[in-house]
Amino acid sequence: MNRFMRLIEDIPAVEQLRREWQHETVAFVPTMGALHEGHLSLISKARTLGSRVIVSIFVNPMQFGPNEDFSRYPRPKERDLALCESYGVDAVFYPADPALLYPNGLHTMTQVVPPKALTENFCGASRPGHFAGMATVVLKLFNMVQPQYAVFGEKDAQQLAIIRQMVRDLNVPVEIIPAPTVREADGLAKSSRNAYIKTDTERAQARLLSRLLITAQELYQQSEADTSHVLETARSFVINEALYPDFALEYFAAVDQDTFQPVDELTDNTRLLVAAKVGPVRLIDNALVSEPLRLLPQTSVISLGTR
Ligand code: AMP
Repeated sequence: MNRFMRLIEDIPAVEQLRREWQHETVAFVPTMGALHEGHLSLISKARTLGSRVIVSIFVNPMQFGPNEDFSRYPRPKERDLALCESYGVDAVFYPADPALLYPNGLHTMTQVVPPKALTENFCGASRPGHFAGMATVVLKLFNMVQPQYAVFGEKDAQQLAIIRQMVRDLNVPVEIIPAPTVREADGLAKSSRNAYIKTDTERAQARLLSRLLITAQELYQQSEADTSHVLETARSFVINEALYPDFALEYFAAVDQDTFQPVDELTDNTRLLVAAKVGPVRLIDNALVSEPLRLLPQTSVISLGTR
């Protein structure tokens, strides 16, 4: 490993690093690893913001439900570290063991409880406790890393809304910087969970999430603004249940981008949200109704050494 990138594996080492960096501007990218172009775009953004960039890679047990994929979540450590290094990351915080962050166990510690209005719908409805676990670990990481900037993907729009509100409500001294969703050429949003999609049929069904978003955007461009009409029409155009038996739509909704509350009428400030299962794999996506999706060129692949 390049001597310039530090691998930090426990909390005293993060505190030591932070003392060394007291005169630096620190930009932070929290992740769960299995890095892809989406994460790398966040790192590139962080490099424009700070004199030092730190990435955390931690599969946080507190944000997984009992029947979710915590144990089988991909953890390609060496590859992730090599990618961080090639993208000019200064330090990676890679806790050697979840117990370092939860020394007294998960269930006996203080937790951040985000407001119900932001967690009762959408992903919060099907993943009870997920956002509390996510917000708790993010606040712990902010307190350890003490970044001036933290970059989060719009891919996880509900998460981003919750983090923004937590930082406002709890006076956390960090500026939250959003970064646009990076997608494959066929529209599928990059995700570490895409690794679970194996067959062409599964892939065709995974693509339906972005097809729903694009179709609703097209209807909006044609001056359709009634939310239920647009969502229903897009659904009937895109999802043919006979063709896609493994595709189970969980939600397809429209919210105000700032409040995250459902809207009856679409405006330029409306965010479309979608979640679905393709067989056992749960995928999410979202887009502003007024902003056409940006797709990666067909040839784009992660290559080590590329910046
Ligand atoms: P995760 O590793 O899934 O916890 O994601 C870490 C960060 O990367 C979060 O801020 C995500 O929103 C962001 N992210 C994940 N996928 C993408 C993507 N396709 N485009 C942009 N950001 C992403």
